[in-house]
Amino acid sequence: TRVLLTGGSGFIAAHTLDVLLKRGHSVVTTVRTQEKADKIKLDHKSEVENGQLGFTIVPDIAQEGAFDEAVKSEPPFEAVLHTASPFHFNVTDVQKDLLDPAVIGTTGILKSIKKSAPSVKRVVITSSFAAIVNPSKGDWPGHTYTEDDWNPITHEEALQNPANGYRASKTFAEKAAWDFLEKEKPNFAISTVNPPLVFGPIVHALDSLENLNTSNQRIMWAAQGKWKDELAPTGTYLWVDVRNVAEAHVAAFEKPEAANKRFFVVAGHFSNRELADTIGKNFAEYKDKLPTKSAPGGDYPEGGREKGVYEIDNNRSISVLGLKYKTFEESIVDSVKSFQPKGL
Ligand code: NDP
Repeated sequence: TRVLLTGGSGFIAAHTLDVLLKRGHSVVTTVRTQEKADKIKLDHKSEVENGQLGFTIVPDIAQEGAFDEAVKSEPPFEAVLHTASPFHFNVTDVQKDLLDPAVIGTTGILKSIKKSAPSVKRVVITSSFAAIVNPSKGDWPGHTYTEDDWNPITHEEALQNPANGYRASKTFAEKAAWDFLEKEKPNFAISTVNPPLVFGPIVHALDSLENLNTSNQRIMWAAQGKWKDELAPTGTYLWVDVRNVAEAHVAAFEKPEAANKRFFVVAGHFSNRELADTIGKNFAEYKDKLPTKSAPGGDYPEGGREKGVYEIDNNRSISVLGLKYKTFEESIVDSVKSFQPKGL
């Protein structure tokens, strides 16, 4: 299949690109600059040479019509995977820095496809557990999160702080996509992939650990000693490995039965304490940096994993997408190993 992948420089997109190429798809990926394209080329020399991988520069997805040219191709695209969206909290203006690129980026690519790429039959959008969770319910013991749940966040709440802004950006972007499907009745089906915190090895070009992607930062912080005296609160007690997230994106357009469905792609629960313990068990070299048994914080709430936190239902991702979830230990060990050559 001929596929357009947006945001090829990202943590999740780099794994998705690997899966696409391994499965024989022909891919064009968008990046913001030529420099970023050149870095990806270094990792995929043969695919670039044989024409299986190409690039289009899209400098800012928040601009109306940003994808108008990118969706045109010869041979034409049949599937589009839209992963590009800001995921960081380092923002001064929530509207401009988070909401606009997420929402305009999503509606913009859908409009461009409808207008100029009639051969596209499947669109997969990277959404998030952020669009599922109801933060006002806290740890919500007794509740089971499924694809039927929606974050009720309002625009006013979105503007209150960057954490709200990020969750709202994913919620509003995903809603806008389903609204588009309903109102515009395009020629293509939409699927969304909704992961919680994504851990796992980095395969994208990363010059320094200072620029490590947001969801992997806590693994690095634990090994660097940031939690030695006190662990940070876990926040979201759910995780998934990036390799499963990448497989989910590809299965979501390859499988006919995945059309027009939302997929809660989640491996299981974790706490920051378990994360630190998993590093300690596998890497003796960080022993002095990791929190001691008596350091406070980072645990499950009262009642523990069984009684203190929401449950999850990931059956759809297993039965429709065929995912076989990696274990937490494998994910954390492979993450740490991939950070070590960068100086961890
Ligand atoms: P990264 O920060 O590694 O990737 C984000 C990608 O989006 C990068 O390619 C980035 O480009 C691109 N991007 C951001 N803003 C813009 C913009 N204004 N114009 C053009 N491109 C832009 O993070 P992830 O790989 O983790 O995130 C990928 C997707 O997965 C996002 O949609 C995110 O919301 C979603 N997600 C991630 C989770 C996680 O835990 N990691 C959990 C749930 C969802 P550049 O490299 O040039 O900055």
